[in-house]
Amino acid sequence: MTAALIEQLRAAVGPAQVLTEGDLTAWEQDWRKRVRGKALAVVRPGSTAEVAAVVRACAAAGVSIVPQGGNTGLVCGGVPDESGRQVLLSLQRMTAVRSVDRENLTMTVEAGCILHTVQPAADGAGLLFPLSLAAEGSCTIGGNLATNAGGTQVVRYGNARELCLGLEVVNAQGEVWDGLAGLRKDNTGYDLRQLFIGSEGTLGIITAATLKLYPRPAAALTAWAAVPSMANAVYLLELAHERLGAGLTGFEVMGQFALSLVARHHPQLRVPFVQDSPWGVLIENSDHESEAHARGQFEGLLEAAIEMGLVTDAVVAENLAQAHQLWHVRETIPLAQAEEGLNIKHDISVPISRIPAFCEETDALLAAAIPGVRLVNFGHLGDGNLHYNVQAPEHGDALAFLNEKEEQVNAIVHDQVHKFDGSISAEHGVGSLKVDKLPLYKSAVALSMMRSLKLALDPKNLLNPGRVVRI
Ligand code: FAD
Ligand code: ZN
Repeated sequence: MTAALIEQLRAAVGPAQVLTEGDLTAWEQDWRKRVRGKALAVVRPGSTAEVAAVVRACAAAGVSIVPQGGNTGLVCGGVPDESGRQVLLSLQRMTAVRSVDRENLTMTVEAGCILHTVQPAADGAGLLFPLSLAAEGSCTIGGNLATNAGGTQVVRYGNARELCLGLEVVNAQGEVWDGLAGLRKDNTGYDLRQLFIGSEGTLGIITAATLKLYPRPAAALTAWAAVPSMANAVYLLELAHERLGAGLTGFEVMGQFALSLVARHHPQLRVPFVQDSPWGVLIENSDHESEAHARGQFEGLLEAAIEMGLVTDAVVAENLAQAHQLWHVRETIPLAQAEEGLNIKHDISVPISRIPAFCEETDALLAAAIPGVRLVNFGHLGDGNLHYNVQAPEHGDALAFLNEKEEQVNAIVHDQVHKFDGSISAEHGVGSLKVDKLPLYKSAVALSMMRSLKLALDPKNLLNPGRVVRI
């Protein structure tokens, strides 16, 4: 039976693209090395028709499929389980840019395109594809859409969901749905595209997407502000919206401890104001007039903020290299945190107005529960999304901390998120890491409708089973 399926898969995609032996770690282990599965085979189709043939063969054999793009997901949702009975379907060979339509401001690309190659393809046509995240050198458009990825420009351009006007999907029956027409208006019934976006491979396999493009700004400037409190950071955000309007394309917050880890582990990077300020805020202003206009606006914003006492000090990058340096500090936080030792990560969102109270209360609860605990708090304040991470006390045993305290820490943080009407997964998704937490915080009605959708589209539960919602 298994041998017959392997033969069918070889016939569908060519023998060289069905991997069953050798080192399959790159597909079987997740990015953070938290889980290691075992695939029946890694199958690498090169076209939509081949994806459909693979799905039909697996469906006929009753074998489940785990779709995978760049395998950078952070919730253990894109690797096979340990059964050795799942097919790992990698989209990484489907990398064509099918078309760019300048008048429609769209481009159509295949799901396996690495994000880092999509941005220059848009740039080559004089346009901007604004999705940007630290994994962009490895993650794929298919994975970005399957997880509805966020990143650093959401405050202006939205999540992956808002950047997609069409999809091509292979459904659980192995049929191809061509929904690629880049329409900005289409009210002919349920919006299937939105259903597949964020479904983490549980409803269908995304094979191509039509993406929204934007005019390129004339200038993008970056500023770093030293801010005395989270409440002030939220006021500063309000002021930045008011002063910069649509020019506000990024607003990131970084706690002093998070920044001190960058200074400690990457001393070659200069971290502005790290000694003196409880918070750093990174602001990006994209301007369609000119650099001088952007600079003038920025200076107006920062002067007003200093006058109001929201900001104690600030610097505007003089050139692109300086701007990259500032962003590099922000992007190095996860690495510096890992170098400091094992830690417990959270990806949460709370209504922006309630973030200061959330942090104050939750910080205090954690400090009381685990004396000496260290908070690596940073993230996309413009979207109300914090990476509210928890590090073992200094000189403590980090592994023991993880083993003994993870459940307790998660319960404290997630209960607080729930109390503040937030989400326990803002941008990374559910995968298998959070699938059993969802029933604690999501309403029974919502979960029951999610199950109904899953069973309607994938009645045999063959697509990424056990992820997002249990059947
Ligand atoms: P994978 O990891 O391969 O898959 C992720 C999920 O999508 C899995 O459930 C998989 O089954 C499914 N999937 C993949 N491709 C398809 C497809 N074609 N059709 C159907 N289902 C599919 N995320 C953010 O949102 N914002 C960030 O700022 C951010 N920063 C990150 C920084 C680093 C250093 C890392 C490692 C990750 C970061 N992430 C971030 C998480 C991750 O990069 C994103 O979720 C990314 O979108 C995943 O893309 P991928 O191609 O690697 O998907
Ligand atoms: Zn993030």
